[in-house]
Amino acid sequence: MKHKILYSYAGIATHLLVTDPKFLILMDTGDGIIRDLLEEEITFPVSTPVHIFFTHGHYDHCGGLFSFLGFLRMIGQEFPVNIYYPEGATEIEGLIDLFNSVYQDTMIFEFNITKLKPGSKLEIDGGVTIKTYQMKHCGSTLSHGLLPEIPALGYAILKNGKKMIAYTGDTGMNENLQDLVKDACHAYIEATNPNTKQSVFHLSSKEASELGKLAKKFTKIHTIKKIRQK
Ligand SMILES: [Zn+2]
Repeated sequence: MKHKILYSYAGIATHLLVTDPKFLILMDTGDGIIRDLLEEEITFPVSTPVHIFFTHGHYDHCGGLFSFLGFLRMIGQEFPVNIYYPEGATEIEGLIDLFNSVYQDTMIFEFNITKLKPGSKLEIDGGVTIKTYQMKHCGSTLSHGLLPEIPALGYAILKNGKKMIAYTGDTGMNENLQDLVKDACHAYIEATNPNTKQSVFHLSSKEASELGKLAKKFTKIHTIKKIRQK
């Protein structure tokens, strides 16, 4: 199983690519997802099922979904596309509904939707299990200030029982983070705040580093500078 952050920059886009002979996983699809995938050695149409997991519905995590689905439709993707998101993530539901309503007569791939709750466990292909963890996140805008909490999940990807990847999505410090990150071969941890200031809905760089010590290896993502893993 190979994995890398294709791109991550808070407020712009974040997406993690996981490849395995039996499937392709995307964790979030921010804007620019097609551009970033085409720079990888992936042959399209993909000859395995595609699984797209969303951590939450903010535009910098799901804004590329519509264009990615359009791209797959255009190039003749025939293997199923499976989409998973936290129950109640209305932005993602809206994008899927729009795509379905516009292209329902010319769809060529199967389209499976799964709404996830925290504490779920699901099997996908090749001995891989995905576990979900409740995260703590909310929006804010300059005009509206802090907004209510939104559905947000972190994900662990296990292969044959071994926690290969932990991916927090956006979150403030919460009681599930340690469980999620602990003993992961590689943890991708959000670190939006560059300083030590505590926030209720994002981690500081220092908090992310402390958490990362629980994993075998970790990478801070969703920072306020561009990250692209080679
Ligand atoms: Zn967010």
